[in-house]
Amino acid sequence: MDNVKIAIDGFSSCGKSTLAKQLAAKLGFLYIDTGAMYRAITLYALRNNIMYRDGTPDVEMLREHIKNIKVSFQRMPNGNMHTLLNGEDVEKNIRTVSVSRHVSAISKIDFVRAEMVDLQRNLAKDFSVVMDGRDIGTVVFPDAQLKIFVTASPEVRAQRRYDELIAKGEEDVSFEEIFENLKARDKADSERTIAPLRKADDAILLDNSDMTIEQQFETALKLVQDLPAYKQLIQK
Ligand code: C5P
Repeated sequence: MDNVKIAIDGFSSCGKSTLAKQLAAKLGFLYIDTGAMYRAITLYALRNNIMYRDGTPDVEMLREHIKNIKVSFQRMPNGNMHTLLNGEDVEKNIRTVSVSRHVSAISKIDFVRAEMVDLQRNLAKDFSVVMDGRDIGTVVFPDAQLKIFVTASPEVRAQRRYDELIAKGEEDVSFEEIFENLKARDKADSERTIAPLRKADDAILLDNSDMTIEQQFETALKLVQDLPAYKQLIQK
């Protein structure tokens, strides 16, 4: 019996992680946040002075380090998945403005992507999964039974991200800064040579600008429930 793979791709802060987490919890699938993996590598690079002052990475130095960087996940008692960097829980540290600012420069490096894609495929080997990212439907799992490409206007996304950071107690952020970072990441992620962010031809577009989180979830859940592969899976 084939496991079911659900690929959720989209722009920064479009609500794809929220959707992916909800779906995984409801369906009993494994949830994998691939952005967290690129963020963890970025945190490592920042901590180990692999970044130049201008924000670009020392690629050769990172190449030397890459085999020593172990990214993994741990399920917490409340069911949430936390990201580990060489065994340390860095779930909070990877969500800072500084990591967001540098992550696109790290995620465009070929050997970083090769390592992460391998890891993503391995993590999903024996499970049905919901995986969110930028290239899941195009590169990681081109054979995913369901691909959803989530989007919303840049203003809506920046406002959501800003509200989220403020709610978390981040005081050093401005809406403008978030908005600029988001547009810069959209551009960098879409224009990079390797695995650029784009909607897979067979992905379903979900624009949630005017949707509540519940409406988005119900829409996506219906798509899953209509999948022949999902029907087969639950008949087992
Ligand atoms: O999803 P999130 O915003 O946490 O992702 C952070 C960054 O990681 C993105 O801006 C992108 O540069 C990179 N990324 C990627 N491929 C993925 C997931 C994330 O390049 N599959």
